[in-house]
Amino acid sequence: MIITKQKDPNSILETISKYKSFFLIGCSECASLCGTGNEDALKDMAGFLKSNGKEVTGMMVPKTGCQTLGTKIELKKDKDACEAADAIIVMSCGAGTQSATEIFKDKPVYPANDSLFLGNMTRFQMFDERCSLCGECIIGKTAGICPITNCPKGLLVGPCGGMSDGKCEVSPDTPCAWVRIYERQKALGNLEEMKEVIEPKDWSKGQKPGTLATRKDKKELTE
Ligand code: SF4
Ligand code: SF4
Repeated sequence: MIITKQKDPNSILETISKYKSFFLIGCSECASLCGTGNEDALKDMAGFLKSNGKEVTGMMVPKTGCQTLGTKIELKKDKDACEAADAIIVMSCGAGTQSATEIFKDKPVYPANDSLFLGNMTRFQMFDERCSLCGECIIGKTAGICPITNCPKGLLVGPCGGMSDGKCEVSPDTPCAWVRIYERQKALGNLEEMKEVIEPKDWSKGQKPGTLATRKDKKELTE
């Protein structure tokens, strides 16, 4: 999931200062789990805006904010409230915000959240980064633990000389990713696999902006 954190409300206020009325859009997926785009978060934002002299014409939490077409269809029932707003504030990740940019051709769109990383919720509303979206996953060779993400240096061969007592030199409270990989391979009886040299990564596989079409056309479907 994409982990988001709400921006400082005062910085949002500063960014939107020239507008008076707003329609708020959340997201019922990642941003809801992060508490940054659920109904309560939207209500809090509406209260904050109103207490600062702004108007809120309406709000909506779409099923999946980054599903542009679905969100556009869901927003139809709020057509009047959207039209009445000077601008749109989106409380999801940057992808959801850019859905709104595509949907609202003639209205400014502002993000209320910062998108931080792709991670897992390890406990209720506690998140850890797990994947750097490198475009070619190698964790089949590293005991299911990503060194690119979990090692601050992104080393494909480790541990580095700074590792001490199994901890990382960059953040001494954190276990070294390569020690974790070693220990897991050992426990799985797969230590031999660590002798295989991992080739340098082809970073062009993660080139931005990424694009992918997984939809099969009709012809393929009937084959
Ligand atoms: S190797 Fe790449 S795709 Fe796989 S978990 Fe790590 S960053 Fe993500
Ligand atoms: S101590 Fe381990 S996790 Fe930290 S930078 Fe070195 S190899 Fe990476």
